[in-house]
Amino acid sequence: MATTHAAADRASDRRVARGRFAPSPTGPLHFGSLVAALGSFLEARRRGGEWLVRIEDVDAPRTAPGATTAILRALERYGLHWDGPVVRQSQRAVHYQTALESLLDAGWVYPCTCSRQMLASCPRGRDGAPIYPGTCRAGPRPLDRLPALRVRVTDAPLTFQDAVQGECRQRLERAVGDFVLRRADGVFAYQLAVVVDDAAQGVTHVVRGADLLDSTPRQIYLQRLLGLSTPDYAHLPVVVDARGDKLSKQTGARPLDERWAGPTLTAALRFLGQRPPPELAGEPVAAIIAWAVAHWDLALVGARGRSGLSLDTPTN
Ligand code: GLU
Ligand code: ZN
Repeated sequence: MATTHAAADRASDRRVARGRFAPSPTGPLHFGSLVAALGSFLEARRRGGEWLVRIEDVDAPRTAPGATTAILRALERYGLHWDGPVVRQSQRAVHYQTALESLLDAGWVYPCTCSRQMLASCPRGRDGAPIYPGTCRAGPRPLDRLPALRVRVTDAPLTFQDAVQGECRQRLERAVGDFVLRRADGVFAYQLAVVVDDAAQGVTHVVRGADLLDSTPRQIYLQRLLGLSTPDYAHLPVVVDARGDKLSKQTGARPLDERWAGPTLTAALRFLGQRPPPELAGEPVAAIIAWAVAHWDLALVGARGRSGLSLDTPTN
């Protein structure tokens, strides 16, 4: 694994800016996902770059019928027009397999047959998932079960600069442990798929919700193991409901209403710290987007704590 990460290696220094919105099609777009879509769109367009849409349907049983169509239609109605074909992760298993095999060949990946029960007894990381203690590193026990495949991590601090959250740092071994790249049921993990796809699509600027901040060190780690360049990251504040929970399909967030696209877009801009003039809300969607592209300033987006964020678990 490369230990230095010179600025010259950064994808953003070499190519035209390219952003992406990567929704999981578990339901229609809601205000929280609009904020992520809009932020990534504006950052890419403000840089004169491209904006791609990728449907993250790698975990087929979790996808909702009709969700992809509903998401794409809502993006269009909200004036968020993408470039190029929509990529679907369900079509890309061969690429994830190739990446996995290269890590296997290099000795970074090992099979794990730990039971749910055993994992349930592990301490939990920030995302609530068990911190894997490396039990199967020396060989899986028991042997008579289909294995998940895990990547070996280290305890070296992994540091990156987030354009909104500031400097972030995590020691993967104590914060997450060796993490799964392919589940025992054959489904590729989000962490692997997203790294392979961001690289294949030439994404230079990843702008997404801060709920994914904690995944970023895992993704940078995989990029380094796979010899891929690391995009710039910006993690936007997450929209929460009255109870303080992240807006999501699971917590019953309402789908976006196409009749109120203008006021909803200006509310999303204000949420992102931008200052649209009040009368803009009554303008056509295209005019709102044009204003937003011309005035977008990532520096106005509020951070959780710009002075640096440790993504290690509080107990460490
Ligand atoms: N598919 C992920 C989600 O909907 C987002 C992935 C990403 O932006 O990296 O939460
Ligand atoms: Zn195991």
